[in-house]
Amino acid sequence: MTLKIYNSLSGEKETFTPIHDNSVGMYVCGPTVYSNVHLGNVRTFMSFDFIYRSLVHLGYKVRYVRNITDAGHLTDDGDVNNDRFVKQSRLEKLEPMEIVQKYTVDFHKVLEVFNLLPPTIEPTATGHILEQIELTQKLIEKGFAYESKGSVYFDVLEYNSRGLNYGELSRRNIEELFANTRDLDGQSEKKNPQDFALWKAASPAHIMRWNSPWGEGFPGWHLECTAMSTKYLGERFDIHGGGMDLKFPHHECEVAQGKACNGVTPVNYWMHANMLTMNGQRMSKSTGNYILPMELVSGSNEFFEKPFHPTIVRFNFMQAHYRSVLDISNEAMVASEKGFQRLMEAMKVLFNSNFPAAEVSSFDLKVWKEKCYTALTDDFNSPILIAHLFEAVNFIFKLKDGKETITENDLQELKTLMSDFVFDVLGLQNIEENNNEKLDQTLQVLIDLRNQARKSKNFDLSDQIRDRLLAEGIELKDGREGTSYSIS
Ligand code: AMP
Ligand code: ZN
Repeated sequence: MTLKIYNSLSGEKETFTPIHDNSVGMYVCGPTVYSNVHLGNVRTFMSFDFIYRSLVHLGYKVRYVRNITDAGHLTDDGDVNNDRFVKQSRLEKLEPMEIVQKYTVDFHKVLEVFNLLPPTIEPTATGHILEQIELTQKLIEKGFAYESKGSVYFDVLEYNSRGLNYGELSRRNIEELFANTRDLDGQSEKKNPQDFALWKAASPAHIMRWNSPWGEGFPGWHLECTAMSTKYLGERFDIHGGGMDLKFPHHECEVAQGKACNGVTPVNYWMHANMLTMNGQRMSKSTGNYILPMELVSGSNEFFEKPFHPTIVRFNFMQAHYRSVLDISNEAMVASEKGFQRLMEAMKVLFNSNFPAAEVSSFDLKVWKEKCYTALTDDFNSPILIAHLFEAVNFIFKLKDGKETITENDLQELKTLMSDFVFDVLGLQNIEENNNEKLDQTLQVLIDLRNQARKSKNFDLSDQIRDRLLAEGIELKDGREGTSYSIS
């Protein structure tokens, strides 16, 4: 079966052909570990976890590199004083590398909670300073970069003057880019505002600094990914992924660096995952429109009416295609919870029941299997795959009621396929006996009893219910819409 992947570079779905037989090299931009990852970040990493799992399931040997950005990622205006790590370390009164450690640990914990597999290599930017210096030197030698006041910049106009096209990935026109950019303070050392930093000179106050041929400084964010992907996957590799918002300038710069350095386009298939939104707005730390993953799981947030198990969140995310925008909502999460419970119920029936042996199956397993694989190999279409899984779910319940039949061979294959798709490919996990649902129902009973006690002015009892729950780590919160709870 051929795998089709939507390639952002061509804007089309293309047949996937790896460079080396059955081996796939995949690089995904990792987090900038200066604060907690939000739920939006988790969605992107989960999208690529699903893609990774799918590739492995389809029989590819995957080298999956996802880096940790622990230096060099400046805030938007590119001002050296806005190094995210330095800023955060001042705020928290910690060393920058303590900030890095703290949020790397948080990142790993969160991804584990949502059942993401670790990448096969997880390099850090600070562990590859030498490689970045070497690449910078190479770009200077080839005339694509210039030094200015201890910093080194990539010369975008020079790149284009050699018949190359800065803007090819994000489909931007360089003239428009130039017309739309102001020359911000601190950027005057560049020949052109679109030139981007490969190496930045460190001001005396800048704590994160390394020696280089151009004096003490630190690497530019775009070059980090080129250095690490080239080192572990080669000058040209199969798949590069990241969130849609990284396409420009980050990935555009990676294309330019790769082509300028090695004369080849660095990546065959560029994949971009779409954004998670909340209230219709992109989830983002800087606007404050965000929710932390653990706040959703514990219920300590204002947005959701109750806590949701991480695998429900995962199921909810998987119900959208990775290239579609997904707006989170309480209703959708509740619907996902119901759907997930039905799926797990069917799995239980499938694995624990004895069905009478039949001569023929009333379910065309071969056709169904093909439909599932068609969805999976059609640019990793998880929502369509899930829709097909629910056809099997309906069949399983009919089988239980004796309204359908299945042969022994088909039953075994159905078990294998359902288990592969549900657990290995989608990465869902069986929640023990709907514990979440039972707990929720129990707490709703207690909330009702407390409200009744309050109505009849029995405040001793109502306070007792609240305080005893609090002692167990369950906090009741009275709001305009009624009482909700959170579990710490
Ligand atoms: P950062 O740590 O800021 O580099 O972000 C880590 C990853 O999360 C990147 O691939 C971003 O594109 C992605 N990302 C950021 N915001 C969102 C969002 N609202 N929805 C989905 N992915 C996001
Ligand atoms: Zn990157």
